[in-house]
This record gives sequence, structure tokens and C-alpha cells, in this order.
Amino acid sequence: MKKTYLDNGATSFPKPKEVIASMTNYMSLIGGNVNRGSYKNSFDAENTVYETRELLCKFFNFSKPENVIFTSGITESLNVILKGLFNAGDHIIVSSMEHNAVLRPLNSISKLGVEYTAVPCNSNGELDVAQLKNYMKLNTKALVMTHSSNVCGTLLPFKSIGKFCRDNHLYFIADTAQTAGAIPIDMKDLNIDILCFTGHKSLLGPQGIGGFLISEELSKITRPLLEGGTGSFSEYEYQPSYMPDKFEGGTPNVPGIYGLNAGIKYINSIGINEIQRHEEHLTQLFIDKAMDIPEAEVIGLPSSKGRTAVVSLNFKNYDNGEIAYYLDKDYGISVRCGLHCAPLAHKTLNTFPYGTVRFSFGLFNTTDDINYAIDSIKKVIAKIY
Ligand code: PLP
Repeated sequence: MKKTYLDNGATSFPKPKEVIASMTNYMSLIGGNVNRGSYKNSFDAENTVYETRELLCKFFNFSKPENVIFTSGITESLNVILKGLFNAGDHIIVSSMEHNAVLRPLNSISKLGVEYTAVPCNSNGELDVAQLKNYMKLNTKALVMTHSSNVCGTLLPFKSIGKFCRDNHLYFIADTAQTAGAIPIDMKDLNIDILCFTGHKSLLGPQGIGGFLISEELSKITRPLLEGGTGSFSEYEYQPSYMPDKFEGGTPNVPGIYGLNAGIKYINSIGINEIQRHEEHLTQLFIDKAMDIPEAEVIGLPSSKGRTAVVSLNFKNYDNGEIAYYLDKDYGISVRCGLHCAPLAHKTLNTFPYGTVRFSFGLFNTTDDINYAIDSIKKVIAKIY
């Protein structure tokens, strides 16, 4: 049976062969650790790690490669920032579309006296920026927001959110899990102070690599979550305070960084605007066809405008889990059903607690994949009925 992968919101697949070759090259021919060896292969690895910091700077329009920090992924990045930057008495604003990668650490630090408020989005997942001022308190320090919903793809209006943050002297911390590598992101233009990213989704790298880009001001006042060996200043028993070592205790995921390096170069070779256009086209085609299926309700915005390539369907009077099961079993289509680690977003979209079936498209999907998915959905509905 042919396999059709429509779960790119969870992780992108397949990975470009260049990504696999880059990781294989490191593991089979280079192999040295970084910052810990005075031999050629170790320097080669160090150069690639530094080059990857530079690639990320260029990709997100940021100017300090030493303030690009590698972590295991965006969940770790958000934990470092939320647990390391805020103190009891601080107040943070988030949206009601956040992933548990934001909500769970927030609920953990709220036990230590950090407050947060989730600004309600509408039932399409849209945020009205004019509302934000109503949630400001004297102790509000920051906005932490997802750039695009992992449930329905709706983009939050980052340009006006960034302006609101600048006008109100708030830090703007971005969760770009669903947008980095899918749409252009300019940290300066959007006024983002800390951009958290994951490497394994649209950046086309492997799982286990991600990071954050942090402004000089915030790098000085954020406490590291992990401390340990950095290969630098080994005579000191304290974590160095300079960047990037302050936040990079322990051996980094060097094979992952090699993969991420190749993933970004691959995206650059195609052009991010071209990738966005391709995914928008697939999304529009899927939405148009899904809207003609009476049993399927398209959750969120009715067109590909203002969203990323993530579309949730709710099959009224059907078990969404059963639909996803038969799509895989009978037609080889991989999708994700349920609550997508985002219960608050599902409450906002009125799809809690039953969830939805999420179809998420990537660079390697084709219009044939969309047509096949739509035909298969119709056949599954007919079979269950
Ligand atoms: N934020 C959003 C919006 C996501 O979609 C995800 C993953 O699905 C995450 C955070 C967490 O990403 P990771 O599991 O790569 O740490």
C-alpha cells in the first residue's frame, strides 16, 4: 500500500537526503566532540556548529551568533526561558491557543508565585490585539505566544503583537514550533526578544535538536536551567557567564546540529517564500475539498490565508479516532487525532474533549496526496456508516 505522510505538524517527513548525509558524514568520518579537543576533527565539528549559529542568525534576521543557543528542542527552550527569566511577582500574558510546552512550565512556575493570563482567542483561533491592553497589569513583564496554532494553523498577528510589546516595554517571547522553516520570520521586524525553535519540524532536521535566539539584555538576566562542563574555563567550578556557554552545559547534540545545518541550507536552496506558496496551495486545495464533505467540519479559518499548513477536521457524529485509524489501516495515510497536546486551544475552538483529526502538510507533499486523502476520507466515512 502506498504511504502518505500528512503529520508534518508533529514532525516533518521525509527528511532531505542532504540532512541524512550530513549526519552520516559527521558520525562516520568526523566524530570529534566540540570545544573539548585540540585536533582537526574537533575543530571541523566546532566550525559546523558555529556555522549553524550563523545560518540561524541569517534565517531569523538576528545579529549575534553567540546568542544562538542549542537545546534538545523547543520544549527545553521554553523551559529554560520560563523558569530562568521570571520571578515571583511577575505576570506573563499568553494566548488561549498555546501548546502544553508553554502551559505546563507556566503552571509549574505559577506555584512559585509567577502569574499568567491566557487572553481568549475567538473560535477560529484568532487573537484581537486591541484586547491585549485589557490584560495588562502593573507587574506584566512579557508576552509568550505561539506564532501559529498546532491545532488549526491560525497565525497570531505577530507584527502588531510585537509593536504592542515595544510600546508597552514588554519582552516578546515567540514559540515558532509551527512556523520556523514554513514562513519567513524576521526577529527585528517583529520585535521578538527571544525566539524559541524546534529543529525537527519545518526546519527539516532530526528530532532532539532545537534552541533559542536571545537578546543581549535578556541573556544577561536569564538563569541557565542546565549547568555543567562546557569545555571552557575547566578550572572553574561555576558555570561561565559568557555566551553561548552560559546556557550550553554538557555535550551538545552534534549530529543533530549537522542535520539542522543541512536542513536550513536545503530550505535556503528552495527559498522560504516558495515553500510557503507550495504549502498554502496544498492547504487551500484540501480545505476547499474538505468543505464539500458534509460529515466533515473544517475547524478554524475557512481559507489558507492567515494560517500555516495545518488543518483540523471534526467528523460530526463519528469517532475521530476511528477515522484516523482507518485512514492509516486501509489507505496508508498518517494523520494525528485527539487533542494535540493543546487542551486550551481545543477548548477555544470548541473541540474539547473529543478533539479533531489533524492533517498537516509539508514541503514534500503533492496535490496528488491531497486528492488521495480526500477520496480516502470519503471512503472511510462510507465504510463506517
Ligand atoms: N509548541 C507548538 C506550537 C508545537 O506544535 C509543539 C510541538 O508539536 C511544541 C511547542 C513542542 O515542540 P517539541 O516537541 O519539538 O519540543
